[in-house]
Amino acid sequence: MRLQEVEVQALDAARLESLIGAQRMARFEEVAEATRAALAGHAVVNISSTATGGGVAEMLQTLLAYVRGAGVDGRWLVIKGDPDFFAITKRVHNGLYGSEGDGGPLGAAERRHYEQVLHRNAKELLALVRAGDIVIVHDPQPAGLAGALARTGARVIWRCHVGRDEPNEWTERAWEFLRPYLEHAHAYAVSRAAFAPPWAAPARTHVIAPSIDPFSAKNEPMSHRNVRLALGYVGLLQGDGTPPAVPFARRDGSPGRINRHVDTVQSGPAPVAEAPLVIQASRWDAMKDMAGVMEGFAEHVDPALGAHLVLAGPAVTGVADDPEAAAVYEDCVERWRRLTHALRGRVHLACVPMADPDEAAAIVNALQRHASVVVQKSLAEGFGLTVTEAMWKSRPIVASAVGGICDQLDHGEHGLLIEDPRDLRAFGRAVEELLRDPEEAARLGENARARAGAEFLGDRHLEQYGRLFAGL
Ligand code: UDP
Repeated sequence: MRLQEVEVQALDAARLESLIGAQRMARFEEVAEATRAALAGHAVVNISSTATGGGVAEMLQTLLAYVRGAGVDGRWLVIKGDPDFFAITKRVHNGLYGSEGDGGPLGAAERRHYEQVLHRNAKELLALVRAGDIVIVHDPQPAGLAGALARTGARVIWRCHVGRDEPNEWTERAWEFLRPYLEHAHAYAVSRAAFAPPWAAPARTHVIAPSIDPFSAKNEPMSHRNVRLALGYVGLLQGDGTPPAVPFARRDGSPGRINRHVDTVQSGPAPVAEAPLVIQASRWDAMKDMAGVMEGFAEHVDPALGAHLVLAGPAVTGVADDPEAAAVYEDCVERWRRLTHALRGRVHLACVPMADPDEAAAIVNALQRHASVVVQKSLAEGFGLTVTEAMWKSRPIVASAVGGICDQLDHGEHGLLIEDPRDLRAFGRAVEELLRDPEEAARLGENARARAGAEFLGDRHLEQYGRLFAGL
């Protein structure tokens, strides 16, 4: 069992100043100064279960870079687990979303295995944590480490990125599983107040919404020309194989080039650049309902609009802690095969290679920027980073009014929300509305961009963490 330490290069948050202005920048620096003083040389150690794929990895990469750039010893350790461990933790994760998941139990045997795997990780981990350090334990996978970490004298924060507004039997089962571990945590940080552990004292609970980084390969500006070249090169648009002239920005600051192709399932050619594109870019996870997006698009979006749909997700071997991805993807392919021939020509399934996460980010960036409509029809969502990524790119959005998405955009102001994510007719109607009315779509997109800039960039996020650390 070997822990992985993810190396993160320091970045100066001052580069945000051109976007957030001098006043916000000055406030950020003040909070950073106070945080440094409060930490008095102690480290901030993050523990998660994957270094690539999904929102947590996406966010830690850039936030930690700014933390390090502010002179704080921020670190990131990734635990190791076996397939049974990740099957159990995925069941807990699905439970927090209010879903049964794979239908398996969460009993004594599962608890024993979960604890055994974490015990093996703890040995190495505890050697790296000192009394007085702040340890942020992300999501259910490493939650069982909280007790051992607290006993070292570290201050432990459990940071939960998932949740559901209304409890049900599955949330209760998941909380029951986690509760004995989480009681050792000194504080809880959740994306939305309703996601707090039901027994948690309000004084220990902190609501911190996620953020995106406008300079990462996922979000940095890209010209229309390079967007088309990138998508043409990887096979998501018709192209002549010329890669974009401009490299993307790697996390270590070096320039990168797109070399890999996207693995696509399509019948006939990729869409032409002029065709309106509807996309959802998500992990292959049942909660993201890629299959529902396909069905809604197929049955309720007027073919006369000439739109194509791209469902893009990480290559299914790419996300270590997500054992269900392959099955969800296979199910989508199966359903795609059953579409009529004409529809199959307009629906494209794409697996983005994850071997180089910066390259993968650049591909998703291009796809989001090219989209006429970005959708996120999740059945449950902690906070959809994909939604804020699209907001930042001024894209018209159709998303479900579930969980954190309700805090990200207001219906009719920054995009369109569908009340019931299973209402495929309403979904199709919303997509059509945006495709038919480019002016309204552009208005929503511009509002979305402004809101993302005001509320969902790293300075706000890190200030909240800074205050939480100082309080501990
Ligand atoms: N993403 C990606 N490659 C893909 C599809 C999605 O890198 O093929 C990214 C996406 O851009 C976003 C993250 O994965 O940054 C998903 O985060 P989100 O909060 O939307 O959902 P989560 O996966 O955490 O449930």
